[in-house]
Amino acid sequence: MSKFLSRRFSSLVPYTPGEQPRDMEYVKLNTNESPFEPSPKVIEAVGSDEVKKLNLYPDPTGKALTQKLAETYGVEEENVFISNGSDDILNFSFMAFCDKDKGAAFPEISYGFYEVYADLYGVDSKKIPLKEDFSINISDYFGAKRTVVIANPNAPTGLALSLNEVEEIVKANADDVVIIDEAYVDFGAESAVPLTKKYNNLIVVMTYSKSRSLAGGRLGFAIAHKDLISDLNTIKYSTNPYNINRLTMAAGIASLEDADYYKACNKNTAEVREYTKAELEKRGFVLTDSKANFLFAKNDKIGGENYYLSLKSKGVLVRHFKNDKIKDYVRITIGTKEQMDILLSKTDEILSEV
Ligand code: PMP
Repeated sequence: MSKFLSRRFSSLVPYTPGEQPRDMEYVKLNTNESPFEPSPKVIEAVGSDEVKKLNLYPDPTGKALTQKLAETYGVEEENVFISNGSDDILNFSFMAFCDKDKGAAFPEISYGFYEVYADLYGVDSKKIPLKEDFSINISDYFGAKRTVVIANPNAPTGLALSLNEVEEIVKANADDVVIIDEAYVDFGAESAVPLTKKYNNLIVVMTYSKSRSLAGGRLGFAIAHKDLISDLNTIKYSTNPYNINRLTMAAGIASLEDADYYKACNKNTAEVREYTKAELEKRGFVLTDSKANFLFAKNDKIGGENYYLSLKSKGVLVRHFKNDKIKDYVRITIGTKEQMDILLSKTDEILSEV
């Protein structure tokens, strides 16, 4: 830390992204990326015609993409906000809807960035414990008097709330904003988008990074009542109006035009998830009922950190969290069937060594 860093950030602990070691070629199952390339239409759209326009700023309103998203999700353009990855939208949401008098509430075990944003903006955060089985007790969020943030499916547990449960939470916080982070919704959970027509306090945040194979493009969007979208735009136009580059914008539009491609990829991921889960269970693992593109798994014979380190030494990266409550587990991204078979065979080697 330099002596110049503002004192308000002196104790800030930044988010740690999943590692990207370069010492060897790994089977990378640690950051919940899609194992599939973007659709051929996306690859075509980000071609030389678009590159030739890079001397010009992109459309700050992202009109063409916003229009397409509105069409896809059956809402109006005024209900859609697009940004540079969903992290950007979560960041803007903490900026817009939390302050020192309006804290945040989110599950104690969830996406680690929520706490970082809260700390960044000096927002008091109430971390609500999960039940013993890692599920969310929805009544814990009723009348929170805080901005509520819930990942559905939750990360890293993969457990999903039903649409009814989400609605109960939204209804019971009518005077506060409820952010439902649907980064993983396309792998088997129910989206709360339809509720945005009924409730003016709900923001549904989604990403292109997982179910649309565009993590490297950085694109996310939110759907909400027009007044909440207008608030997000206030923050965007006060920070970085051109926050989606031209190539990503073109990729985002083209991917909506190839919905069948992504549907097939996501179906494959859900099937490979169930296959891998069953195979790990055969090997004595305990897993949650994940609806996401990852599994949350433990095997007490190996131990969480040891499993992570042993897999890494054998060329397979998964994610381990040091938090006491989940340190026995690892989070395993679902790759292709071939990648998961490598994970399983390395797991067999590890089991035979313990
Ligand atoms: N929400 C959750 C729950 C996530 O796991 C992630 C991915 N790390 C994000 C949001 C952010 O995704 P992105 O910024 O790539 O859209």
